[in-house]
Formats: sequence, structure tokens, C-alpha cells
Amino acid sequence: MATEEKSDRSSAFTTEQLGEINVAMSVAIKDAVAGAVAAAMAGLAPILKEVALTPEKLREINKPYVDPAKQAREDRERDDWREEIAQQRAFVDATRANCSHLYRTGQEAIALVHNQLDRQVRGLCMLCHEWIFPREWTIDPPDEKNHKGLAKLRGPHKDYQRAVRIEQQRSMQ
Ligand SMILES: [Zn+2]
Repeated sequence: MATEEKSDRSSAFTTEQLGEINVAMSVAIKDAVAGAVAAAMAGLAPILKEVALTPEKLREINKPYVDPAKQAREDRERDDWREEIAQQRAFVDATRANCSHLYRTGQEAIALVHNQLDRQVRGLCMLCHEWIFPREWTIDPPDEKNHKGLAKLRGPHKDYQRAVRIEQQRSMQ
């Protein structure tokens, strides 16, 4: 019997005492848990800050994936393509610069064009496709400053008098 009494420790407290102990225990546990959570949150704060989704990070996340190898290949191809176009343009320019605008028979290769709004004659070389124009207004493509393009006077083309002469000769024939 004696051992039973010793082992049954709850019998040493009254019901009121047990109630007080329970309340004290639960308060202590609450405090401990709150403290632990606060400590944990304090430790997490820098991590949470790092993980937080800022607008910059969101934009970065929403960017589509770009394969660096694919990007490099496209850049390379675009550079090659630009170089090729520049070479072609240089070749055409050189051909036109060296063209006499004459057929091998010595006949003029410049055809006359009369369909322009200002009614002035234009010339077109049938060999090198050089466009021979008088002094005329042109409009450059739009840019930041000139939203409707910038109107400019250009010309006349160095061979324009030749086109005029051809027209005079034809009208005399
Ligand atoms: Zn020509």
C-alpha cells in the first residue's frame, strides 16, 4: 500500500492546487512557444527578405527563357547577314560607278521616265539600274525629332543633264 501511495503523486495535491498548476503550466508553455516563434521569426527575417517577391524579381521570373547558345547563334547570323548586305550594296555601288550607261553598240542605255508628279523627266540606266533624278524634294524616314520625316532638297544626279539631252534629241527626231 505504501509504495502505491508514493507512486501516486497526484494524490499529494488538492483539486484546487492541481487546477492552479495546470493554469501555471499552460501560461508557461504559451510564453515559451511565443518566445520560440519570435526567435525563429527573427532568425528567418533576413531569409524572408531575400525570398520576398519584389517587382524586379517578378519581372525577372516572368521573362521567357533564352538559350544562350541560341542567342549567340542568332547574333552571329545577324552579323553575317548585315555584312553580306553591306557587301552586296558596295558591289552594286561599284558597278553603277563604273557603268558608262552605254550599250556596247555605243547607244545610250538610259531610258526616259515621264510618270513623275512634277512632270520632270527621269532617267533609268537599263544596264545598272541607276536612277537619274533632277533637283527634287525627298522626305527622310521619321525619327525622334521629325515625326513626319524631314523634307530635303537633293540632286540633281551627276548624269541628269545627260538625260535631259537625250530627251531633247528624241524630241528633235
Ligand atoms: Zn548604267
